[in-house]
Amino acid sequence: MSRIPDEIIQQVRDRIDVVELVGRSVALKRAGRSYKGLCPFHHEKTPSFHVNPDRGTFYCFGCHEGGDIFHFVQKTEGLGFLEAVRSLARDGGITIPESSGGESGLAERIHKANELLQASFRRELLREDCPGGP
Ligand code: ZN
Repeated sequence: MSRIPDEIIQQVRDRIDVVELVGRSVALKRAGRSYKGLCPFHHEKTPSFHVNPDRGTFYCFGCHEGGDIFHFVQKTEGLGFLEAVRSLARDGGITIPESSGGESGLAERIHKANELLQASFRRELLREDCPGGP
């Protein structure tokens, strides 16, 4: 149910290098086919945080935090998935088509949904508050 097309998400995944991304906040050392460093998600003295450039994923053997580039940005910057995708798309110079969900479109949809919800709550309340009956 993503409002950003899958092919855009795939483009971002292809464009953003997980080692470069993680390397901005974690000092990574090459270890065979992968990279390792000190985990940003828990305190440690020996590196158990691994980055796999082939798969574009990271994993920590200490706290078992792991995922892809989007998950990393979500965790480190406290963003939601779509925000993380947008942020990385900006980084990679990838334009997300407006029709598939600009901020305003999303806000409007949420607003509409809230209105509907409130209307139905009001109806419920009125029904319950209604005195009378046998
Ligand atoms: Zn960890």
